[in-house]
Amino acid sequence: MAQDPFRFSERLKGIRPSGIRKFFELGLSMKNPIDLSIGQAHFDAPDVVKQAAQKAIAEGRNRYTVTQGIPELREALRARYAARFGDISGEDIMVTCGVSGGLMLSFLAMLNPGDEILIPDPYFIMYKHLATMVGASTATYDIYPDFRPTAERVRARITPRTRLIIVNSPSNPTGYAMTPDEAKGLAKLSDETGIPLVSDEIYEDFMFAPRHVSPREFTRNCIVLSGASKSLGMPGWRIGWMLAPRELSEKMYSLQQFSFVCAPAPLQWGALAGMGLDFSAHRQDYLRKRDLVFEGLRENYRAVKPTGSFYLFPELPNGMEMERFIEACIKRELLLVPGTACSDRATHFRLCFAASDEKLHKAVAILNEIAVQIKK
Ligand code: PMP
Repeated sequence: MAQDPFRFSERLKGIRPSGIRKFFELGLSMKNPIDLSIGQAHFDAPDVVKQAAQKAIAEGRNRYTVTQGIPELREALRARYAARFGDISGEDIMVTCGVSGGLMLSFLAMLNPGDEILIPDPYFIMYKHLATMVGASTATYDIYPDFRPTAERVRARITPRTRLIIVNSPSNPTGYAMTPDEAKGLAKLSDETGIPLVSDEIYEDFMFAPRHVSPREFTRNCIVLSGASKSLGMPGWRIGWMLAPRELSEKMYSLQQFSFVCAPAPLQWGALAGMGLDFSAHRQDYLRKRDLVFEGLRENYRAVKPTGSFYLFPELPNGMEMERFIEACIKRELLLVPGTACSDRATHFRLCFAASDEKLHKAVAILNEIAVQIKK
């Protein structure tokens, strides 16, 4: 008898479609939704970046690049990290297909089936599924209600199987950016236990606190992942990078060579043109948007004021049930992400404030109306 030609792998059984994509697709079917569900900057890639990519295409830079990325971009990134972290001579920069690609390579390089990774709760959904793909499992460290990733919270969840600690600052979905003390604590924990940190810093430019803090400032036991998707308004270009100890990253060259091969060649040139750009106007704009939604919802919603990224993660109003709340939003063509898509708890929701002021004003009005109605 013939086999079922489309038997799926065991690993696929643990993977369900992202709860966030579902809302994205729902948004596409609505005429004019207020879509605050998807996590990307609302500005487009800068002209100089587009022109550099177009020029690269026109000049025939369309072939494979070396797997670790074009030397010019790696050099620019090396200078940037050296200025921040000091001596990085033992480390290497690798250009990846987004932070997603960097996460995949890190997990493939460091995790065996049966290993466990620690992720915060709430978390960026991809961590869990990528772990599943490589046969590892996930345990969470609870960061409710203030969203602080403290060493104590992480330490309490370490077991003999723990192989990596994932940190994400500023955070998706909470908007919390770690303080120097928190980063120091995590670095010390990593040094004591020998469990490396994987630090997802994709939102590093979206800072409302005085500066972005990386645990890499306090330990070398840390893989830093970041990229251009959010900062340069080009999530579809798939350009990210990784700063990792040289002996590890050189192993990852082979993993990338035999999977993604390289990040898109002309778009690496585009990203290079964006390296020195001043981000302060966007930062000001997002700071204002943060205040617009945070202050606008203050009366009816409990939330931690974001110190980074472009997310607010408020509590559901007056103990309202998740499903009823999301339905009430959808009825008014407002799309948000239920906290259940990125947490084990069903108590919060995620609002992405990377949107026009007009949409944000409308969303605030709708959310307040829902909260007031439920009170009655
Ligand atoms: N990490 C976090 C925390 C994110 O929110 C996202 C994008 N939503 C990514 C990584 C993926 O970024 P990239 O486009 O660089 O793959």
